[in-house]
Amino acid sequence: MPGSWRRVDHLAQAHLEKCPDLDYVRAYPMATKLPTPPRVGMVSLGCPKNLVDSERILTQLRADGYQMSPDYAGADVVLVNTCGFLDSAKEESLEAIGEAIKENGRVIVTGCMGKEAEAIRTRFPDVLAITGAHEYEQVVEAVHAAAPANLSPYIDLIPDAGLKLTPRHYSYLKISEGCNHRCSFCIIPSLRGDLVSRRPDAILREAEKLVAAGTRELLVISQDTSAYGIDIRREPRMWKGQEVVPHMTDLARELGKIAPWVRLHYVYPYPHVDQVIPLMAEGLVLPYLDIPFQHAAPSVLRRMKRPGNDAKVLQRIHQWREICPDIAIRSTFVVGFPGETEEDFEYLLDWLEEAQLDRVGAFRFEPVEGAAANALPDHVPEEVKEERYARIMEKTAAISAAKLAAKVGRTLPVIIDAVDEEGGATGRSQADAPEIDGEVFLRDAGHLTIGDIVQVEIEDADEHDLYGVPVGAHG
Ligand code: SF4
Repeated sequence: MPGSWRRVDHLAQAHLEKCPDLDYVRAYPMATKLPTPPRVGMVSLGCPKNLVDSERILTQLRADGYQMSPDYAGADVVLVNTCGFLDSAKEESLEAIGEAIKENGRVIVTGCMGKEAEAIRTRFPDVLAITGAHEYEQVVEAVHAAAPANLSPYIDLIPDAGLKLTPRHYSYLKISEGCNHRCSFCIIPSLRGDLVSRRPDAILREAEKLVAAGTRELLVISQDTSAYGIDIRREPRMWKGQEVVPHMTDLARELGKIAPWVRLHYVYPYPHVDQVIPLMAEGLVLPYLDIPFQHAAPSVLRRMKRPGNDAKVLQRIHQWREICPDIAIRSTFVVGFPGETEEDFEYLLDWLEEAQLDRVGAFRFEPVEGAAANALPDHVPEEVKEERYARIMEKTAAISAAKLAAKVGRTLPVIIDAVDEEGGATGRSQADAPEIDGEVFLRDAGHLTIGDIVQVEIEDADEHDLYGVPVGAHG
């Protein structure tokens, strides 16, 4: 079924765009070179509310792969977040725009003075774009147009497709940067350095702001979510009169009190991951774990130098499902890693049969410039990689189809991503992260609004998606 295969490939590719974990170039032995991220300068004027807007814009841009520039000279584009409260504030804003034009030349204006676009354009015809206060999506889009992010699948966590809309109802929440591991196929630590965790109170404050601005689903991202807080020695911080320890479980619990849906990505199966499963069973955190296993054969995992390489992981998956039967586990796997034998690959297929993962992305190994794995012996011929790739996709598509078929007849919560004019809507179940997993296609759903979380009776399923009707909309 060629259509299905294209879909599988599409899903896999989408995950490749997001996953920091396994990204390789196509043309071995010419390993890929990475682009330098564009830099954004910010001048923020006016009241604390404006400052919050600036923070939100910068947070989104950071998450999108931009770096900040402390000066005009180093910036590819300068954002001026203006204040228009008083005439004196307007004059100060216009002066700031003039200075940014003179010093840099590539300027985007946002904030309260966005309402007076014509006056700004008359005085500064070279301004690249003007947006109004709280128009986060538009200003982020303008930055993307002025200085494209060159998202690299080798280092960035967010799928490119997710950036085109940056919808309000879900937001990526980055909890740390960098990584303490040295997986042999990965160059993140050499590019981004060792793990640097954000303070838990800062993360929770950002989560509150995002939710206040319309976010219903927080997607927790980092290079290694399970390691969160190790570098800051689990030092507690005060949050709403109580101490919060910078630890994945404590953070997840607090985030669960703030946002309706909290989804955890890039969780390595360290022993303490077991503690987060009860939070899922309680409904505080979505019953969803994105664990990039990459392989199952011990010898391959050793050569990959993977963290959390626990021989008992299958047993733990079974235990997780006993505590939280609805847990959806998504993962990615690499086939054709140097030295992978037919036995290693069959071990992986048997492991997948046993693990019954809900969502799987698979990739053929390809080297990236600077990665230690390039120097490993016994590279696998391309035709063998292709053949293994086809076999793993066939296996995982069959597992996915069976798991989705088992949902037909159930009523599941679904978050709405789009509503069409013909009365249909598209959403995602708790088992589906945006861009990388499947979707739920709804009929008789024209009354819904983007961001709604509704109960949906599942009527049909295929290899990757579900089909249903909102409860109460039968006809
Ligand atoms: S754990 Fe760290 S080193 Fe390993 S693949 Fe992920 S980001 Fe790279």
